Amino acid sequence: METTDNGLDFVRAAVRDDIAHGRVPEDVHTRFPPEPNGYLHIGHAKSIVLNFGIAHEFGGRCNLRFDDTNPTKEDVEYVESIMEDIRWLGYDWDDRLYYASDYFEQLYEWAEYLIGKGLAYVDELSAEEIREYRGTPTEPGKNSPWRERPTEESLDLFRRMRAGEFSDGTYILRARIDMAHANINMRDPALYRIRHAHHHRTGDAWCIYPTYDYAHGQSDAIEGITHSICTLEFENHRPLYDWLIENLPVPSTPRQIEFARLNLTYTVMSKRKLLRLVQEEYVDGWDDPRMPTVSGMRRRGYTSEAIREFCRKIGVSKTNSTVDLALLEFSVREDLNARAKRYMAVVDPIKLTIRNWPEGTVDWFEAEYSPDDPSAGSRQIPFTGDLYVEREDFMEDPPRKWFRLAPGKEVRLKYAYYVTCEEVVRDTDGGVTELICSYDPESRGGEAPDGRKVKGTLHWVSRTHAVPAEIRLYETLFDRENPDEVEEDEDFTAAINPDSLTIQNGFCEPALQDLPIGEPVQFLRMGYFVKDSRYSRQDAMVFNRTVGLRDSWARVVRNKRENE
Ligand code: ATP
Ligand code: MG
Repeated sequence: METTDNGLDFVRAAVRDDIAHGRVPEDVHTRFPPEPNGYLHIGHAKSIVLNFGIAHEFGGRCNLRFDDTNPTKEDVEYVESIMEDIRWLGYDWDDRLYYASDYFEQLYEWAEYLIGKGLAYVDELSAEEIREYRGTPTEPGKNSPWRERPTEESLDLFRRMRAGEFSDGTYILRARIDMAHANINMRDPALYRIRHAHHHRTGDAWCIYPTYDYAHGQSDAIEGITHSICTLEFENHRPLYDWLIENLPVPSTPRQIEFARLNLTYTVMSKRKLLRLVQEEYVDGWDDPRMPTVSGMRRRGYTSEAIREFCRKIGVSKTNSTVDLALLEFSVREDLNARAKRYMAVVDPIKLTIRNWPEGTVDWFEAEYSPDDPSAGSRQIPFTGDLYVEREDFMEDPPRKWFRLAPGKEVRLKYAYYVTCEEVVRDTDGGVTELICSYDPESRGGEAPDGRKVKGTLHWVSRTHAVPAEIRLYETLFDRENPDEVEEDEDFTAAINPDSLTIQNGFCEPALQDLPIGEPVQFLRMGYFVKDSRYSRQDAMVFNRTVGLRDSWARVVRNKRENE
């Protein structure tokens, strides 16, 4: 993060300076301007946290403005999901909900104004010719033969464009700036295009639509936005932004400030690519728990507090970079550790049967919901001689430093007793199906009276009480840090990780049946989980693993590998 002496990032420092120099007439006023052509993702969250955060910190306001100037890709489904996601992230635009399409009439009038001033003209070169005439970064462009068209003629054609007399692509309104300008965006950029398309708000009222560059700054000015914060790719558009504001009779003078967009490892963030993942059914929707969308993260069990904290940690800077996904997961784990109640569930079960357990007896144990916070309370969990434990907690032929179950090994079952593995039962293929153990009745509560120590403590559920649950484990959706790093004849879908979702049929302690959807829990030793909002039912629970805990055995394996 780039910060000033008093710890402000460069955007906030610029806002503070503008206030100090009297350049902010009333309050600081920002906006978040999504295009409703997809669901919001974690990159948008960064922009939301920045825009609403700055408004809040400087006692100002932040608008929500749908930048709906491209009718063909936009939809009300997206409008609604975007509003839901912003609210869920903890922000509120109050009564300041706007649409760029609300300004179409005003934008049209200003376009006529520019034509009247000789600052815009109707061109009839084809799209291809316009590209050819534009030049390159090193060579100047050429003037269109229609550039000197009389004002009256441009005005007439522009009105007829609006009236629907022409088909798509035949005419275009361009600003008249400088075809030799060093900045290509200043070489007579497009202001209006003909597009006979139905718009999700204005219906068929328009068949010409303003370009992003034309609509955006003017919408800012209409709303009295003081700081128009956007991502770095618009830096080269700033001269055009300023040119339009200077040359139009707009009611205010917003300032554009650019910051680096968020990129994350193992993640694609372009809405075009996210849409393909949905349409081609690599995922089960925009809110699939593997998607980097706000709705996907919510369904996965990420909290809004964790996302906001992540955005705070990464800060804002002026250079593009890629943030490690592990930092996002760290923020989630940190937040869930503080709030999630602890339960026991076995994700990949194997039977454990206690040979010397008094037949038919149920022993109840008091189990606290939080190891650090007694006020979180506790519940009773039933223990019997018929249990499930985690398959990965047993190893037939373990290496040194294995403190879990193995033939002849003694372990502690959390809250309950010490057990020793005495026998292994197999199916006809030789797979282990059951562990026969003995227990030490003296070790009730997890301490042996003779002071005998065991290192491993395992989680378990009682088979007679356990409730089945589908448990969904996730890995990253892509198998490499940069999903765009693919062979020449491939696209990003070649980087999809075939193991991104594993479905397990596990068992939970009965108390979890009453858990509301959306409430995060920790399954001891297995990670943080949440009931899936799409698939989970009262009588058929489905859990998503939000994020794992750090696994001490995985660390041993890793250290060992590194030391070899
Ligand atoms: P795409 O290019 O995938 O369509 P976009 O940037 O055009 O995405 P918008 O809906 O226009 O998406 O974005 C709304 C706001 O969010 C803009 O101000 C944009 O700069 C910001 N934004 C989008 N992606 C990111 C990102 N990865 N990091 C930070 N801000 C972002
Ligand atoms: Mg955009």
